[in-house]
Amino acid sequence: MHYLQRLHDGNLFDVVGGGGVVTAGLLLSGGMDSIAIAWWKRPAFAITIDYGQRAAAAERLAATQVCSELGIQHSIITIDCRSLGSGDMSYAPPHAEAKTSDWWPYRNQMLITLASMRAIALGVRTLYIGTVRSDGESHLDGTEDFVRKVDELTSYQEGGMRIVAPAIGLSTAELVREARVPPSLLAWSHSCHKADIACGDCRGCNKYLDTYRELGPEYSIVD
Ligand SMILES: [Zn+2]
Repeated sequence: MHYLQRLHDGNLFDVVGGGGVVTAGLLLSGGMDSIAIAWWKRPAFAITIDYGQRAAAAERLAATQVCSELGIQHSIITIDCRSLGSGDMSYAPPHAEAKTSDWWPYRNQMLITLASMRAIALGVRTLYIGTVRSDGESHLDGTEDFVRKVDELTSYQEGGMRIVAPAIGLSTAELVREARVPPSLLAWSHSCHKADIACGDCRGCNKYLDTYRELGPEYSIVD
């Protein structure tokens, strides 16, 4: 099969210049964005991190199910960062510097670093992250600038691992459509920041509901 076709279909590998292959991994939270990227890019590995966030159990379940359906090798890191968290995803009130209630200081930097530590041991050289356009509107660690800086810092170090956000220019609904994610797979996503059962009243739940509204009846999970 021609490599461009393999890329289009999604495959275990990314093809890079010169015909070489680079093993890809994905930081998979079990939310809509990272599930869509799992379907779109079909990385060989996915890494989920239980860092003590309130919705950890639901995120682990969603990520495990998606990896099982897509045949992706799944790795879960469990590390208790509760004492360092603040905001909706943690058990502490938002930090004084928080511009939105769900800001957890340096969260994406931490998650990318932890995932990279596991990924390099797995032979991964491209680590996908699920950042989408709207993330940058509420957190600096969701901006294009942040992704560029964290990629620069990670790839500067031994192993030269690249951090890539393939959906940085897309909204979540645009990503789902672009990747043609099956509704039944997307239905596994967990977006609530505050609980394992969606609370219906947090920034994660609001984004989830807005995205389903934008996607329309084609993505309805109700028969
Ligand atoms: Zn919620």
